Amino acid sequence: METRYSRFIPPRREKTQVNGNRRIAIYPGSFDPLTLGHDDIIRRALKLADGVVIAVAERTTKPKEPTCPLKKRVEIISEVYADEPSVEVVQFSGLLVDFARARGARLIVRGLRAVSDFEYEFQMALMNRSLWPEIEVIFMAPATSYTFLSSSLVREVASLGGDVSAFVPPIVLEYLVEYYGPGVAGR
Ligand code: ADP
Repeated sequence: METRYSRFIPPRREKTQVNGNRRIAIYPGSFDPLTLGHDDIIRRALKLADGVVIAVAERTTKPKEPTCPLKKRVEIISEVYADEPSVEVVQFSGLLVDFARARGARLIVRGLRAVSDFEYEFQMALMNRSLWPEIEVIFMAPATSYTFLSSSLVREVASLGGDVSAFVPPIVLEYLVEYYGPGVAGR
């Protein structure tokens, strides 16, 4: 109902714009390769944030295993989200909280697949918050069909020539075909 004062109450959206306060979420990871599980989390995060920055890092676990070079990963993922203006892809190294602060982002998104992810993720979240109390970490669960999916499993299956076309976006699949051969696309 229209009241005498209603015109003085700015709509919420306008207030955010006046403050220039776009809510940016950082989604960090190695994405080696980016899977449909990652994509699922990114799409969910876009419902909570105005923009998502995919922060692509060097892979620290099992560094001797063959890996897609960091620059190439950034290139491929940028191509995947080329038509998505709210998604930015950047290479990142160093402390995540420093990166987030420099980007003016107070939100970190991580995906949780199973209880096994929880302990490490929880520790990281608390560590990051002790480094920068302003930061919030949110954990998101993917669609059930992606809860078993991991980059390392995709790498393993692809390196043995198995078909991974159901697990990665088409642009990523093309790179995997170049790298491992046509078998990874079921050809
Ligand atoms: P890291 O190398 O730091 O584990 P990853 O690239 O493997 O990074 O993953 C980045 C984030 O995406 C992590 O929070 C991870 O838990 C999450 N993630 C990876 N695969 C999936 C998936 N299938 N469903 C949901 N979240 C996922």
